[in-house]
Amino acid sequence: MNKDPHDILRDVFGHAEFRGEQEEVVRHVTGGGDAVVLFPTGAGKSVCYQVPALCRPGVAIIVSPLIALMRDQVEVLRQSGVAAAALNSSLTSDEARTVRNQLHSGELKLLYVAPERVTTPGFQQMLQDIHISLFAIDEAHCVSQWGHDFRPEYRELSSIAENYPGVPRIALTATADPTTRADIIERLKLKDARVFITSFDRPNISYSIVQRDKPREQLRDFLRKHKDDSGIVYCLSRKKVEATAEWLEEQGIRALPYHAGMDAAVRSKNQDAFLTEDGLALVATVAFGMGIDKPDVRYVAHLDMPSSVEAYYQETGRAGRDGQPSDAWMCYGMADVVQRRRMISEGNAPEEIKRVENTKLNALLNICEITTCRRQAILAHFGEAHPGNCGNCDTCLSPVDTWDASDAAIKAMSAIYRTGQRFGGGHVIDVLMGKGNERTERLGHDKLGVFAVGKDIDARVWQSVLRQLTAAGLIYVDHEAHGALKLAEEARPVLRGEQKVMLRRDLPKRTKKEARAAKASEMPEDARTLFDDLRAERARIAKSQGVPPYVVFHDSTLRAMAEARPTSLDAMADLPGIGKAKLDRYGERFLAVIQANA
Ligand code: ZN
Repeated sequence: MNKDPHDILRDVFGHAEFRGEQEEVVRHVTGGGDAVVLFPTGAGKSVCYQVPALCRPGVAIIVSPLIALMRDQVEVLRQSGVAAAALNSSLTSDEARTVRNQLHSGELKLLYVAPERVTTPGFQQMLQDIHISLFAIDEAHCVSQWGHDFRPEYRELSSIAENYPGVPRIALTATADPTTRADIIERLKLKDARVFITSFDRPNISYSIVQRDKPREQLRDFLRKHKDDSGIVYCLSRKKVEATAEWLEEQGIRALPYHAGMDAAVRSKNQDAFLTEDGLALVATVAFGMGIDKPDVRYVAHLDMPSSVEAYYQETGRAGRDGQPSDAWMCYGMADVVQRRRMISEGNAPEEIKRVENTKLNALLNICEITTCRRQAILAHFGEAHPGNCGNCDTCLSPVDTWDASDAAIKAMSAIYRTGQRFGGGHVIDVLMGKGNERTERLGHDKLGVFAVGKDIDARVWQSVLRQLTAAGLIYVDHEAHGALKLAEEARPVLRGEQKVMLRRDLPKRTKKEARAAKASEMPEDARTLFDDLRAERARIAKSQGVPPYVVFHDSTLRAMAEARPTSLDAMADLPGIGKAKLDRYGERFLAVIQANA
């Protein structure tokens, strides 16, 4: 007899309702059906197999590729009073024996294993005479060569279908790419499975992309708004990672570096600090983030532009997995375009791959320069329509001012053409602004008709014009010619005056509407004080147990506590994220904090 999913959700996980399509998935799998679940990060994928695992008799086998993820999940389940364990190479032989004994005595409800172990004869042997409730295959995109994280051992998992007929299987991934989806279904023999796809929108993430002016100061100002939060700052190079972390520390912002070239012990210490401390900025290369299951990352900041919309979506997607308001912030300028184009041009990839990489970069440039809703553009890239403006991105909150830059565009392109398409932006701007110097004189550029035609516009605006003309593909940076700007074929109609050029006006002032929106996401002053005290209590508990704070309670639960101020355990039980086990364990301690704060 299966248990009721709602009872499990309420009693164990402390939630009154499922989110989105979770309930459909849970009922389908609990009833014995196979499922393919394509949910974006933060949509609550794990509930889709954890609840059925607790509803059905027997033990669920969860295939998971990363030891760190397994450890986290098992810890979170145990705190909620669930008998869960992981079997992987990090266990001592004694620990492994304990897990095997628990498995055989029927105590376990969930067992996490690595893909390479599942199909070994030894493990198959172990599963004989065990009642298996279901198989869950997490990060299922690892089965596909098209995915970004192919693991050959995932291919072997197709044998589960033959060896365990009648046992439901559920494959889960957060990947958005249709080719990978089809591959998962094919490779894992899930043709008859029900496919659940939910929107890839992450409404709690606010997107903003600012024009680069003084990047470090811009970053510092952004981070000051996130003083007590954890977040990730991405930089392209190791050197920049180190320098940025150091500079932030000097500015009084707690920051630690993380990149593949660091001493392994220091690196893992920094990662642990990020997982267990509040108010820490981890400055990292994109090597960091895969398999980090920290739900309360409140922001992801990019000091350098990623390579594609997919990369941007994936990296920013590490923010706000708990569904709470989070920020994706990027600082972007002409230097990014030049650098990314050079990386592609100097790479060893064949020409056709380079063309694809350039197209991918163009799609991201389009999102950087767009004057309409960014979320709409991001989702459109994944083939998803978003009705109307989102109201939670910088272009929605602070509508971009555009101007007719046709005349300026013609002047800039003429200057590029008349100087022989041999110079970078700096020199072209000098000519436009009529800056006589040794170079312009030596080259005779001060005698050209275009000299000083743009002196009524300041250098910053010219930089913005050149950047946007590049992003729009009207001009391009030629790396074979030392970064010289050249005219593209597409420039012709503009030069002939047949096509208008509308550009965004950079660095808009913060509008009243934006200021109001920022305020609305803040808590009232007294709730904030209590929230901070509750967090401090959580940090003490987490530290004494050696677990990350979110394993004790999520931010959203503490926020609800701070706002509702429950005065009894019964009232506390009604808040989201507080199941029976956690109420017994921690209820009194947090009630005491609330009373002390009254
Ligand atoms: Zn928007």
